[in-house]
Amino acid sequence: MSDSLPNGLDPLLIRQDFPILKRTVADHQPLVYLDNAASTQRPRQVTAAMVDLDESCYANVHRGLHTLSEEMTDRFEQAREQVADFISSPSSDQIVFTSGTTAAINLVARGWGDQQLQPGDEILLTLLEHHSNIVPWQQLAERSGAVIRWVEVTPSGQLDMDSLADQLGPRTRLLAITAVSNVLGTVTPLAEVIQAAHDQQALVLVDAAQMAPHMPLNVAQLDADFIAFSGHKMLGPNGVGVLYGRQELLESMSPVQGGGGMIHSVSREGFEPSPVPTRFEAGTPPISQVLGLAAAMQYLENVGLQAIHQHEQQLVQAACQQLAEIPALTLLGPGPDQTAGIVSFVVQGVHPHDLAQALDRQGVAIRAGHHCAMPLHQQLGISASCRASFYLYNTLDEVSQLASAIRRGCDVFLGS
Ligand code: PMP
Repeated sequence: MSDSLPNGLDPLLIRQDFPILKRTVADHQPLVYLDNAASTQRPRQVTAAMVDLDESCYANVHRGLHTLSEEMTDRFEQAREQVADFISSPSSDQIVFTSGTTAAINLVARGWGDQQLQPGDEILLTLLEHHSNIVPWQQLAERSGAVIRWVEVTPSGQLDMDSLADQLGPRTRLLAITAVSNVLGTVTPLAEVIQAAHDQQALVLVDAAQMAPHMPLNVAQLDADFIAFSGHKMLGPNGVGVLYGRQELLESMSPVQGGGGMIHSVSREGFEPSPVPTRFEAGTPPISQVLGLAAAMQYLENVGLQAIHQHEQQLVQAACQQLAEIPALTLLGPGPDQTAGIVSFVVQGVHPHDLAQALDRQGVAIRAGHHCAMPLHQQLGISASCRASFYLYNTLDEVSQLASAIRRGCDVFLGS
């Protein structure tokens, strides 16, 4: 099958930037890397940007008066501007660097939630959420006496809009919702959901960990109150993530961690925090990682987020078609038109872990388990699933290799 897709994105050309994709695994099998929802690989441009930084101007930021520190601070703050541009944030002051999506969500739960929530207030979650967008709210509920309520999913794995309307009410203070399910790939109707929540004066936090890497994200248009995502899922390094927040909300929030870098002044009596966003960045920030993230965003913008999304849609479509023909295999989720970059499935009679290991022996890296989404799996009536997740460097050939590897795995476990 040809890999040249009619969207201007050439995965074979892109692959040349990713040396790791040339390696073999499991007894000389070419690597077919389909675990991108967990972490993506990094192109040479990202690693080169980080090496260049180390070799040319590495120093701590925001502190020194010497040349290296000033240069480093400029580059760090330019990276913040670049992140703001990438998501069309009105200001770079609305970009807080964190260690990842999880840290960004916890920052809101602590910095906003601890201040604002009263016993009986309601936090609305959906059954599509990753544990990172569940547990911090459960912990907040324990601390504050707030109540967690759930938006259901339909049997095909879409957000149940009737349930959303039922659950939203005058006591809802915050809706925390994923933009794209990390299990089913379901794309949630964010514009509609945000409008419905705002109609009830509730804030909305969007977990964009599986969206920001794969499609254009325009925070100004979206009108969400908080948005969180991670560098390591979008060609960047691990250890860095972003919290975007509405300016007045960030300004109303207390710093969660105290230390150097987040203060305006400190005396024996107390401290005065610095303005946002540095108020939330106590201690030395992940300097190299932030610069690596900026390089990753540059790379993604050069390719084009819309082209990446279309490319992934074609891979998902092909995967769904080929996998649907495998006896005993059930595809999960609402189908290729409603999903982004992810295909999950179960095979009757074969444990997902066993199947993933059988695929690994053929060079195909997928993920199996509950994918940090146990409530969703409970709702689907399964304990685990297999997940293939695609990115800009994956090819239609790899989709076929996935299908063949599953067939061979099924033959081993079920007999042909
Ligand atoms: N939310 C979603 C939807 C995710 O897929 C993930 C990562 N699997 C996270 C949150 C957590 O991201 P991180 O581990 O980078 O904090």
